Amino acid sequence: MSVLVLLEQRGNLKACALEAATAANKIAQAAGMDLIAVYIGQSLADDSAQLAGLGINTVYAYENDALKYYSNDGYVPIVRDLVQELGAKVIIGSSSALGKELCASVAARLGVELVQDAIDVQWDSGLLAKKPVYAGKVLADVRITDSPAMVSLRPNVIAIEKNGDTVPTVEQRPMPEVSLRTVLKEAAEAAAGQIELTEAKIVVSGGRGIGGPENWPVVQDLADAMGAALGASRATVDAGWIHHSHQVGQTGKVVSPDVYVACGISGAIQHQAGMRTAKIIVAINKDANAPIFKICDYGIVGDLFEICPLLAKEVRKALG
Ligand SMILES: Cc1cc2nc3c(=O)[nH]c(=O)nc-3n(C[C@H](O)[C@H](O)[C@H](O)COP(=O)(O)OP(=O)(O)OC[C@H]3O[C@@H](n4cnc5c(N)ncnc54)[C@H](O)[C@@H]3O)c2cc1C
Repeated sequence: MSVLVLLEQRGNLKACALEAATAANKIAQAAGMDLIAVYIGQSLADDSAQLAGLGINTVYAYENDALKYYSNDGYVPIVRDLVQELGAKVIIGSSSALGKELCASVAARLGVELVQDAIDVQWDSGLLAKKPVYAGKVLADVRITDSPAMVSLRPNVIAIEKNGDTVPTVEQRPMPEVSLRTVLKEAAEAAAGQIELTEAKIVVSGGRGIGGPENWPVVQDLADAMGAALGASRATVDAGWIHHSHQVGQTGKVVSPDVYVACGISGAIQHQAGMRTAKIIVAINKDANAPIFKICDYGIVGDLFEICPLLAKEVRKALG
């Protein structure tokens, strides 16, 4: 019996793949199962050392130029067939944009239930997943009774843990017969130097309180000082002040950074849905009654145009 982890890559293995492997390793140990993994992409070679110490016995690698980029009709049959061939009892993937689609499609093809966007998984005579519901207001404990039990994990919620330096065996698999209806020729990367929001350890976001698009540099400068990704509330996106790719919340991206700084954001429930699992929340708002202060760890009641430059200066001083 085995636990199968889906290793996400985009050129290189993503951090969320190692997080999923860490969680899967704990499940495998608690359940007394083997931990195996599947890699689909162009080449695992340069990255395989990253998998050391994660408890993975075997990685089934499907390497092919045609599989360099994620494609639903390319990846899904491979995972489905591998699960059926190996009889995996637990499948753990990532709840990234691609991971969500892959997991949902695999679950549908296998005819099993899937707990998407879980923030924790445990083994207690079966798989138990913790998942935010009602825009993050409630945490539901879900017991999965289907077999295989399938979960996708929110990026950044599990700390990567390695034990030793044993590398997994890599079993090369021949490219199966798949007819790709869609072929992604090229993926445009975000502007050089920009940190991907969902993977960032620190996020600094701006809301309507910034007053207009000409004031983003105030928030961006704080983000730069902290080495953070730039997030935004929907109000600023709807106003056309910034691209939707920066939006955090129910209809934007879900982030779980170590630190989330909300500048001039009221903290509506739909915004909270995208950031309330951040480990430390800092709020800067001139309204002491803003809802964001109910969920923050550190609250600064004040004008962001005064506070952000001061904070940026102090952070730069502290970091030398
Ligand atoms: C179905 C649905 C989905 C939604 N999805 C999302 C989503 O994904 N993400 C999201 O963010 N919202 C979402 N919303 C919108 C959400 O309800 C709020 O309208 C939005 O989050 C408000 O954005 P805001 O906090 O920037 O603006 P506001 O609510 O207008 O808050 C601005 C804040 O800035 C403060 N402020 C003003 N000037 C300053 C200053 N100089 N210094 C410091 N503070 C200042 C004010 O006190 C205020 O608290 C959704 C709504 C619906 C109905």
